[in-house]
Amino acid sequence: MRTSYSAIQTYNQCPQKFKFQVLDKIPSKPSPEATFGNSVHSALNYMFSRSPVYPTMDEILSHFSEKWKSASIKLPDLAIQLKDTYEESGKKLIKEFHKKNPPWNFSTVDTESHFEVLLPDPENGQNHVLAGIIDRIDKIGEGSYEIIDYKTGRRLPSQDRINSDLQLSVYHLALLKRWPHVKAADVKLSLYFLKHAEKLSSSRTMADLEETKKTVLKTIRDIQGQQAENNFPAIPSPLCEYCPYKQICPAWKHLYKKTAASAPNESQLQQALQEYFAIKSDDNKNKKRLSELQGIITAYMEAYGLDRVFDDRGYYISQKLQQRFKFDFEQIKAILCSAGLEEKWSQLLEADEKKLKIILKELPPELQVRIMEQKTLSKEFKVLVASSKPVKK
Ligand code: SF4
Repeated sequence: MRTSYSAIQTYNQCPQKFKFQVLDKIPSKPSPEATFGNSVHSALNYMFSRSPVYPTMDEILSHFSEKWKSASIKLPDLAIQLKDTYEESGKKLIKEFHKKNPPWNFSTVDTESHFEVLLPDPENGQNHVLAGIIDRIDKIGEGSYEIIDYKTGRRLPSQDRINSDLQLSVYHLALLKRWPHVKAADVKLSLYFLKHAEKLSSSRTMADLEETKKTVLKTIRDIQGQQAENNFPAIPSPLCEYCPYKQICPAWKHLYKKTAASAPNESQLQQALQEYFAIKSDDNKNKKRLSELQGIITAYMEAYGLDRVFDDRGYYISQKLQQRFKFDFEQIKAILCSAGLEEKWSQLLEADEKKLKIILKELPPELQVRIMEQKTLSKEFKVLVASSKPVKK
């Protein structure tokens, strides 16, 4: 399979989006954010690409404006004022970046650097190709290099996220493939967050890179497995807001289609949904009222020392004492082991999925991935989950 970091990221975010975008190649409207990001990337590439005579700030800014203006023609829904706001914000980012990072201060060896890494899978003998483009590579010392990827998004991730970032690990693999004499420890990996003028850096060991290969190969095998079953589930998340396939996605298309071309039994469904929500709301009200009534009844029973109270028809409510105990497991272990019953103690320690989930959150990302790889599907069924918040188109 030929793939890329961005395809793998798309698959991990939502398999259904991966199917629309990568497998079915359904053309999508460009988003303002992506168009803006591409124009800024193009300007930064231009900024570093004319060594030894670097372009002036005016030249860089007009390069950006030209790129943005020609690309934003394909955004007819974006108001003129917003287009101007994007342009101004891009110019501001570029000026700040240039002030902090004048290109003559760096020894840039490549920009928009295309790569291909061959990834043989020892599990099934298949060969895969991982391709991509690195924004910039600088030489930062004898035999040492820095990989820099520009980010135009608003979010500044934690250092932990940078340390386990798959994109940087993939780029590291690509650099070592291009220059095999370079040591893994001599490669600095950086993401530059333009909106914050902040660069976050990290490094990887050879062992980390072996883990990266395993993670990528495992994802490729997952994709192939899903392809064989034609099963690419939609995973709704806040990122759906930016997904160009929202109107055809099984998780959202009903929101857009139900008024236009309704199915013959659409009205039956609408009635069922409204009744469902009405009953659910009554259920919640009833639960709240039941708890208030329990309070009144308990207070009465306690005030008059009663174990039971009766209504006028003879229906009654009893108060029963419930007790919960906890065991001293150290003592139990000692008792069982001293009786030669160690196997009974092991049965007691049987794996507990809830506890595993709690422990997982505290583990480093690589261990989380390795543990999650041990997961196999044991049962599958669908449940209805109602949302209490209405959404708008
Ligand atoms: S709208 Fe959301 S759930 Fe649907 S394909 Fe896009 S990302 Fe996936």
